[in-house]
Amino acid sequence: MTGADARVVVVGAGLAGLIAARDVAAAGAEVTVLEARDRVGGRMRGVPVSSGVVADGGAAYLGRQHTELLDLVSDHGLNLASTGMAGESTFLIDGERTTTASRVPPLDAVALGDLFDCLDDVVETVRPDAPWLTPDADRLDHLSAQRWLVDEVARADAHTFFPLFLGEMMAADPAAISVLHMAFYLRSGGGIRYLNAFEGGAQQWRIDGGAHLLTGALAAQLGDRVHVNQPVAAIDQDDDGVVVRCVADTDHAQSEFRTDRVIVALPPLLAQRIDFRPGLCTPRATTATGRGCAIKVHLGYPAPIWREGGQSGWSVSSTGPLLSTVDDSPPDGSAGVLTGFVTGAAASAFSALSPADQKDAALAHIGRLFPALPPPDTCCVTDWLAERYSRGCYAALFGPGDWLRLGPSLTEPHGRIHWAGTETSLEYFGLMEGAIRSGRRAAAEVIGAADARNNSRKVLV
Ligand SMILES: Cc1cc2nc3c(=O)[nH]c(=O)nc-3n(C[C@H](O)[C@H](O)[C@H](O)COP(=O)(O)OP(=O)(O)OC[C@H]3O[C@@H](n4cnc5c(N)ncnc54)[C@H](O)[C@@H]3O)c2cc1C
Repeated sequence: MTGADARVVVVGAGLAGLIAARDVAAAGAEVTVLEARDRVGGRMRGVPVSSGVVADGGAAYLGRQHTELLDLVSDHGLNLASTGMAGESTFLIDGERTTTASRVPPLDAVALGDLFDCLDDVVETVRPDAPWLTPDADRLDHLSAQRWLVDEVARADAHTFFPLFLGEMMAADPAAISVLHMAFYLRSGGGIRYLNAFEGGAQQWRIDGGAHLLTGALAAQLGDRVHVNQPVAAIDQDDDGVVVRCVADTDHAQSEFRTDRVIVALPPLLAQRIDFRPGLCTPRATTATGRGCAIKVHLGYPAPIWREGGQSGWSVSSTGPLLSTVDDSPPDGSAGVLTGFVTGAAASAFSALSPADQKDAALAHIGRLFPALPPPDTCCVTDWLAERYSRGCYAALFGPGDWLRLGPSLTEPHGRIHWAGTETSLEYFGLMEGAIRSGRRAAAEVIGAADARNNSRKVLV
């Protein structure tokens, strides 16, 4: 890669941006990565739970279908930790606590069967390569998942389970997403059963030591090409090139970078905040676009002591704050880590509490789930709703009308500006795998554009 397109600025040092930067740097470009936070990794972040134990505050799990991610883990010499569980599950449904060997909540099996049959039907209908071209897309894109449930499934237990399922899978409140988005997300992620499963599914492994080790390793490879504390506010372009402007804050002066091409690797709600000149033909997000709502609560113990009582640590509750918990202890059992998930509407309520009240609410919930457990040594809350440079997680939620409006232009370059980020990937949208695939696609576009220019010059000469 030489000549006029040899300088590339990547905006955002999450997994997508770092992968894009790696690929364009390998093709010979002069790369600059601009990251708003004082750290890299974006939605991948390590949280120290106790001395020497770091848990995944953001993304954690992966499965066999995540082939690009598995390659990356192996290329960087990292290890996988199995999430395999032994012992009983705990369920707290409508205030009643039960323990059982099953991983499925003790709800009416016929109701859950009906729900999954209806979900299967709508998931099979969606066009994964172009959701906006799905038969009946207009109706499905303007119908909320909540309304769809009311119309399609009568049984009460399906209504209890559905928000828990969408909270777990998508960090979504069913009222906030279109049924087209729900169906697309479940299909894009490998199907309901794969996405929902630990063993043999999308939660089969964690990265030993934390998923943030990957983004740390990618950033280390890029070295001083990565600039933190550089929130991009404006991108101007003309026929000669692009100027990327970062805002000043109390500690950092305003800066600007001249370049030939830009890859914007941000969640859509944040890309939409950038002042593009000339303006975008299609927005990156609309007023219907929502943020996924997830908060992780890590409880640290001297050892995974629930295992001694025959408990797996896996739980599901029908009311918050901790709608599910899972055993995320280090593989050698040298410490105990229970991770609680607060998702959907429960996350919005939890986020509004003071840190002390969050801790009290989490500990009270753990006390109801596992009465025999002593209080944890530590309780760490990672609130993604409060993160201004993420605006929620696991991923953006496309609301009513969004797929028809935004979908066709999701990856369409705006002049010299290309788009990456997990929300631009039709494969594994919202997941780490989607982020990697989007970064690779955007890098290939930039490299391809440069090669096309250089080849046409050679022909002209
Ligand atoms: C709690 C949680 C649990 C999750 N669980 C899983 C899981 O188990 N498995 C899985 O595969 N995925 C999971 N995910 C999703 C996964 O983390 C994301 O899909 C992936 O990390 C997205 O990467 P990205 O590069 O597209 O975006 P991001 O990681 O969001 O990166 C964007 C970067 O841009 C920066 N930025 C924002 N605005 C600006 C600006 N104006 N200028 C410069 N920089 C800016 C941000 O600081 C950030 O570093 C989870 C996410 C969370 C938060």
